[in-house]
Amino acid sequence: MAVDGGHRNSGCDWDGRWNHVRKFLERPGPFTHPDFEPSTESLQFLLETCKILVIGSGGLGCELLKNLALSGFRLIHVVDMDTIDVSNLNRQFLFRPKDVGRPKAEVAADFVNSRIPGCKVVPHFKKIQDFDESFYRQFHIIVCGLDSIIARRWMNGMLISLLSYEDGILDPSSIIPLIDGGTEGFKGNARVILPGMTACIDCTLELYPPQINFPMCTIASMPRLPEHCIEYARILQWPKEKPFGDTSVDGDNPEHIQWMFERAQERASEFNITGVTYRLTQGVVKRIIPAVASTNAVIAAACATEVFKIATSAYIPLNNYLVFNDVDGLYTYTFEAERKENCSACSLVPQDLQFPSSAKLQEVLEYLTENAALQMKSPAITTTLEGKNKTLYLQVIYVIFDKLGLSDGQELAVADVTTPQTVLFKLNFTA
Ligand SMILES: [Zn+2]
Repeated sequence: MAVDGGHRNSGCDWDGRWNHVRKFLERPGPFTHPDFEPSTESLQFLLETCKILVIGSGGLGCELLKNLALSGFRLIHVVDMDTIDVSNLNRQFLFRPKDVGRPKAEVAADFVNSRIPGCKVVPHFKKIQDFDESFYRQFHIIVCGLDSIIARRWMNGMLISLLSYEDGILDPSSIIPLIDGGTEGFKGNARVILPGMTACIDCTLELYPPQINFPMCTIASMPRLPEHCIEYARILQWPKEKPFGDTSVDGDNPEHIQWMFERAQERASEFNITGVTYRLTQGVVKRIIPAVASTNAVIAAACATEVFKIATSAYIPLNNYLVFNDVDGLYTYTFEAERKENCSACSLVPQDLQFPSSAKLQEVLEYLTENAALQMKSPAITTTLEGKNKTLYLQVIYVIFDKLGLSDGQELAVADVTTPQTVLFKLNFTA
């Protein structure tokens, strides 16, 4: 589509093109926002001004881009660092076999732009961490279709860092709404986050269960499930028997999986366990949770609807967490996730660390990674000692605080992949 300054969209808006959207925006109704006044301006805002950022162009991302573009959003950026794999093609419907190996963001953008006249999706084949505040600040709304909790938390932290406060009062114009969708097999959720106002990702971190690992004693001595037998082969037999030399298990190597599968079968027959298959073996080794196209479609639809509601102010947005589950029958409900008073990401409250002065740095590191409300991945701690900034390196993790010269009330700055900002902690000695 030719672009000429100022009249970019003229010529492609044929008669009746947006009738489906106009029905929502240009007439009153019993379900509209109490302050809503029908007008033609909302549609113009969608078509010409509203700038949306979609994070991820995989299972959810393809659905989101299609839904948003067909709802009238035209200025859409999409960020994705992945390239297309053949296994994506069953559900990531903007991709074709010829696209395998190409960047998802670019192919998705090309597809939507060529199919939906006037739409201008701008792809970024990059990581979210490659962009700074000035990039994120340009968007009205950000939608996440991610499969990584770390990336979600980073994005959440970025939007919180954009907030500006004056005398402790949040400036509402600094808020960029975040719509977050997530799916896992037949389960999904969609949520609306107004950073600084409603519960953020870190406020509800306890909702994300830690990765399932089977207890070692079960794997080693009393397996009950086929998965236990596969884990036995992977964790105990592989390193002992070294069937392929010193290489570690490669989930994409069929010989490795075949070996693991056979060992797991032997183990299973010993304990009269059924259900070990080649496919399950690969699933356990690669920690695959099957992606379900219909779950993605439902969650992306909910997210795109929320973007539409917030962008137009025509309807009251979701408040604020929708759960969807069709593992067995179909179940869905909505609840209001609450802000956590001392959330390490959005509360502005300094975080307390309570340790005896005889504790070791290692204990702090374990606390930061294992605490359900923090779940950091590889925290790096710096502090000020004798007036100098000092990084507390791995070498000192077994040294007790007294020896390090840390004192009661000491501030520790912690950097981690889960946040773009450093988190400040105050060390309180308990004894
Ligand atoms: Zn929070």
